[in-house]
Amino acid sequence: MHIFDSVQKTKREFIPQEEGKATLYVCGPTVYDDAHLGHAKSALVFDMLTRVLKANGLDVTYARNITDIDDKIIKKAIEQEKDIKEITDFYTEAFHKEMEAIGVMKPDIEPKATESLEAMYSLIQKLIDSNHAYATAEGDVYFDTSSDSEYLKLSARVQEEDEKMQRVESSSLKKNPADFALWKSVHDNSFTFSSPFGAGRPGWHLECSAMIEKHLAKPENKFSVDIHGGGADLLFPHHENEAAQTRCGTNHTIANYWMHNGFVNINGEKMSKSLGNSFFLKDALSEYDGEVLRFYLLSTHYRSNFNFNTEDLSVAKKRLDKIYRLKKRLFDLAQNNDKTPFQEELLKALSDDMNVSSALALIDEMISTANETLDTAGKHKLLKRESISNLAYISDILGFGVKNPFEYFQFGIDNATKETLGLLISKRNEAKKEKNFELSDKLRDEILDFGVSLMDTPAGTFWEKV
Ligand SMILES: [Zn+2]
Repeated sequence: MHIFDSVQKTKREFIPQEEGKATLYVCGPTVYDDAHLGHAKSALVFDMLTRVLKANGLDVTYARNITDIDDKIIKKAIEQEKDIKEITDFYTEAFHKEMEAIGVMKPDIEPKATESLEAMYSLIQKLIDSNHAYATAEGDVYFDTSSDSEYLKLSARVQEEDEKMQRVESSSLKKNPADFALWKSVHDNSFTFSSPFGAGRPGWHLECSAMIEKHLAKPENKFSVDIHGGGADLLFPHHENEAAQTRCGTNHTIANYWMHNGFVNINGEKMSKSLGNSFFLKDALSEYDGEVLRFYLLSTHYRSNFNFNTEDLSVAKKRLDKIYRLKKRLFDLAQNNDKTPFQEELLKALSDDMNVSSALALIDEMISTANETLDTAGKHKLLKRESISNLAYISDILGFGVKNPFEYFQFGIDNATKETLGLLISKRNEAKKEKNFELSDKLRDEILDFGVSLMDTPAGTFWEKV
């Protein structure tokens, strides 16, 4: 397998430190607001990566953190007159539900900042002991960037932006303008933790380094993790600072490979709260099936910037519909588990830095060949079973086509209507059984009035939204 290393800026063969195993760490959400499409994109990209690593026979350990200590959380709690924990629990749960709706598998480890404080204290102490960090008279602890000759090498391309930022953030108590807080002292009683450095809260960058050491790093390895991932906006300062802390405070280099996914733009503009065009995942999910969003957000290469617009989304939906239409045609048949040439080709495309356009072209081709075969040689059992196996493989490696195909086409119909339709269908089947065709025709018309179509198959009667 090959992946593009966004720090070395080259495609590299993926060779894990321990044979047959891969460790992956991805920066997760700060739980003070609903997830937007940018969060969804990042979670989807690394979900796909995990699936592809697994399909390559690797035993993957995937960690994605929850940042539940942050000034923005405190601000929200004050605004809403709620406890901090009420806010963080609410948004963590919402995040989990939304991730499930777009088919993102749970990470193996999901550490929370509030549960990782000891690991953070220990890392700060090591950095102080090795003269890479210092405490100010006010009780803050800063990382001393001048002590690290490698500082800024990770994100070399954004050095200019760093200089701009140094001017903005300059504080008289810091030794160097670029130094960043490991521990922020807080002198009121609001959401503070008592640490060996006094009461306060940890700096955001610190938690990832501490969690990675605690959960994934092994003393005998050179790198804390094989792959570190996140959105492209995190490269600087967040990943730069993570790398510095780990380099100076442990005997590890934080990651062997870095992967960054591109931004999500809305109708050509960068998504941002100030522009008022943040697109929340929950809003998208109220209009579209989660798997349609998954397919759409993954349908362009993960490193390119993604331009979200409804026209492209409907094109993506039509493409996903094709997978489901084929699944429907093959619904009541058993699967053949032999690996087909299509599956080998698909894995090959995705193992090439997740070349999704090649993968989707292969899928389109497989679907049209399968449909042609079903049209012309409908009774060819082996071919049918191979197609079912191909669809199952697509579901495993890409998470497309995982639902019951009949239910997929019912998206947008509310539960009460679904129940009514279920009742009408069973009444109609009763009537048919009793050969009361006048009644069964009347019931069929009643059903069609709901804007659905009916399919009588050997496996039962199904309906879908027209
Ligand atoms: Zn991080």
